[in-house]
Amino acid sequence: MDCLFCKIASGTIPVKPLYEDETVFAFADIHPQAPVHVLVIPKVHVQSMAQAGDEAMLGHLMASAARVAREQGLENGYRLVLNTGDDGGQTVNHLHVHVLGGRHMTWPPG
Ligand code: IMP
Repeated sequence: MDCLFCKIASGTIPVKPLYEDETVFAFADIHPQAPVHVLVIPKVHVQSMAQAGDEAMLGHLMASAARVAREQGLENGYRLVLNTGDDGGQTVNHLHVHVLGGRHMTWPPG
């Protein structure tokens, strides 16, 4: 399967890990939308939240995103984003949590 984030998670495309364990991988977004912008992905290929059925994996993914936020020093708050499908603005079809922080976030999103 030709999936960019599978290649990053497996090391085929080398990127600096900001957090990694057996099931998740975190790395800097290539087009940061905030002073801190990290993507946290499952190593297993799951297209999006709409296809995600493994609740243990999802729980660990979210806990890992919170861990990354803590380790990045976002004690004043942060935003977790899961764009899902075309209307959700998803552009990479491998489940990923955006961890955004280091500035005040606005609402509503675009
Ligand atoms: P989405 O729009 O929610 O699917 O987010 C995909 C994210 O992946 C975007 O924020 C992109 O900037 C980011 N991205 C795309 N290619 C790469 C890459 O090669 N390395 C790191 N981030 C990437």
